This record gives sequence, C-alpha cells and structure tokens, in this order.
Amino acid sequence: MPTFRTSPGMRDVLAPDSARFRHFTTVFADVVEAAGYGQVIPPLLEDVGVFARIGDATDVVAKEMYDFVDKGERHVALRPEQTASVCRAFVQHRPAVPWKAWYSGPNFRYEKPQRGRYRQFDQVGIEVLGVDDPYLDAEVITLGWEFFDRLGLRGVTLVLNSLGEPADRGRYVEALRQHFEAHADELSDVSRETLARNPLRVLDSKRAQDAPAIAAAPRIGEFWSVAAAAHFATVQRALDAAGVPYTLDPLLVRGLDYYRRTTFEFQAASLESAQNAVGGGGRYDGLVEDLGGPPTPGIGFALGVDRTLIACDDEGAFPPPPVAVDAFVVDTAGGADAHAITTELRRAGLRVDRAFEGRSMKSQMKSADRSGARLAVIVGTDEATAGTAVVRPLRSDAAQTTVARAELLSTVQEALS
Ligand code: AMP
Repeated sequence: MPTFRTSPGMRDVLAPDSARFRHFTTVFADVVEAAGYGQVIPPLLEDVGVFARIGDATDVVAKEMYDFVDKGERHVALRPEQTASVCRAFVQHRPAVPWKAWYSGPNFRYEKPQRGRYRQFDQVGIEVLGVDDPYLDAEVITLGWEFFDRLGLRGVTLVLNSLGEPADRGRYVEALRQHFEAHADELSDVSRETLARNPLRVLDSKRAQDAPAIAAAPRIGEFWSVAAAAHFATVQRALDAAGVPYTLDPLLVRGLDYYRRTTFEFQAASLESAQNAVGGGGRYDGLVEDLGGPPTPGIGFALGVDRTLIACDDEGAFPPPPVAVDAFVVDTAGGADAHAITTELRRAGLRVDRAFEGRSMKSQMKSADRSGARLAVIVGTDEATAGTAVVRPLRSDAAQTTVARAELLSTVQEALS
C-alpha cells in the first residue's frame, strides 16, 4: 500500500496547537470587532485575474501561484493572499463605505519551504475601503499593534514608510532604475534580474554584495509630493499620540505592487531576518479600480499566523490554552453507566471524557490522570448495583465521596466550583 505524507510546505496542525490557532483568531476577532470591523469569508479559489493585480513583477504572481484550469475551462488560482479577494468582493457586492472588514484563513504560495515560510500558511487581516484619511492609517496600524500586545508578544517592532502618491512612486522607481543600472556590475545576479523586472524590489535584497549600491540609492522621501508628505506626517503624529512606537525605514517597500503612500511592517526580534516579518500592510488606493470598481481608497494589513506563533514560542508568549476536561468517568461495570453519566454531565455544560473497551480500573485511572481532569467519577460493580458513583478529586488531597446518582451532577458541580 502506498503511504502518504503532507506535501512540502504543508502541515497538519494537531491539538493542542490547533486550539491555540483557533484562540489566536478569536483574540484577533475580539480586537478588531471591538473597532467596528465585520468578518468577510471569501472563497479559497478565484479567477486568476483577481490576483494578477498584485503585480506581474512580484514573485507571488510570477512564480508562486497555485493556478490551474478547472473542469469548466476557467483559469483559477488558490488565493495567495486575501486583500485582492476582499476588493473583488467589494466590487461585486458594493457594501456601504466605509467598509471595515476582517478575515482569517489559509493562503497558498509555491515558495521554498523553511522555518516560518510555508506553501500553505494562515493569515488574519483587516481591510478598510472607501476612506482617505491619515487617521484611518493610524487606526489600522494601532489595531495591529494592540493585537500583538494582547498576545503578549513584546519583541515586535513597527517599521513605517511612505511610498508617496503613485506619481511620486513612479518618479522614484525611474530614479532607482537609473541608479541601479549605473551600478549594475556591483549588484548580485539575483538583484540584476530583479532590477529588470522591478527596481523597487532591489531595495529588499538582504545580500551583502548589494548593500553598498542600496545604501547609495536615492530615498523615496526626496520624491514625496506635498500632499503625500503631509499625510505621512499626520499618521506619525497620530501614532505618537497613541503611544505606538515605530521606526522609519525608507527602504521598506513591501513585496506586493499595489501599495502606495503608507506602508508598514511588524517585525519580530526573535525570527531570522529573512522571515522576521510577522505582518505588514499599507494603502492601496488603486486596487478596487483595477478590479473594475469605482476609484476607492483602501488600506489594510495581513498578519502571518504561523510565523507569529513561532515568534510567540521563541518568547514563551501566548501558550496553548488549557484543553483539560473537568471530569473523567471511569466505569468498570460494562460501560453503560459511563455513557449515561457523561451524557448527563455534558448536557449540564461540563467538559467530560471517559474510557472505552472495558479496560481495567488501573488503565482507566491512568487515562483519567492524563486527561487533566480535576475529578474522576468512578462506577464499579458495587456502585452500579447500588445506583451510586464515587467522586474522587484527582488534583487535591480532598476525600472522595460516594453519592446517589440523583445527586451526582450537583456534587460534581460543587466539587468543581
Ligand atoms: P504578505 O501578504 O506577503 O504581505 O505577508 C504578510 C504576512 O504573511 C507576512 O508578514 C508573514 O507573516 C506571512 N506570510 C507571507 N508568506 C508566508 C509564507 N509563505 N509562510 C508563512 N507566512 C507567510
């Protein structure tokens, strides 16, 4: 028989990590729903054209897309991110603006798998469509910051930049192209290739060979229009006022093509530099229009769940939530009493487990212990005949009691309270 394992870059998430994963999303939902964001659940699969707007020159589109022609001859792709899907949903449904949406779920990119980089990875994120106001940029960034704080993650740095208006960005890209072409023989082969496709992305290079040419490159700030500079100054003032610390980095251009004006990244100190971004986002005022909608400003961020949890592990933050049951039912009289008792206690809202297959008292008590339960409810043949059960504390020295079945629920509830 063939045996199967997960494909490269794909993972199973088992308990208790899966509970932590779920709790992560719950905490995120708490933070953003308290700020007026509503959940949107886009499909995993879209027309490939939805994602083309991320940029032909980006790796996400050029190399990493999980796309195929389906049985109806449609060229579709598993989503590599959710911002484009959210914008497509906006164009399709035309909700009232401002539209404040949050999402969570898996994305797919055919990347080279390594720690913190997978082919299926989860993100949570928010997007706001229809508002052009620097205080919104500040709100979005602040919510990301507060979320990391709620997780208990301390070693996060917020890095901020502005790419200017599209025209500023265009002039900057041209200036970069001229600069890097003049220094082409100093660049690594990889960066020379990147230069031909997208001069901005050369700034992302972490290769030592590229460092001098990057250090000497023009900076985006020299190209900001008055309006772009004013917008960015207000964002910074608002973050200062909210006590959200940040570092300015003129080299932060982010991977996706659609960003303009405010861009930002959350970096975790504990992760290696190539994978240190736990999240990022920015303004993308042209994306809705590119997808066939009216001109609509947009801003948002996506946080990588897998990578953020690795950063939490490194810091010992956000441990898996306890998954222990309240009580464990041990039945050595055939199993029917355990069925009746677990059903009764669960219906009363308690977390209850049991053993099966008529195992020995010793083996069932071992399972009870492993379950983390605070109480064992024990039914042997004597108790089964007498219509009673023994309630035995497992985590304290308190004495066990034998109670009539009619009093079992209240006894257990009292012992747990
Ligand atoms: P992006 O959508 O590329 O802006 O990425 C936003 C965040 O998603 C990053 O900061 C990472 O935390 C996470 N992320 C992106 N790609 C991957 C991947 N292949 N594996 C794990 N996390 C990822």
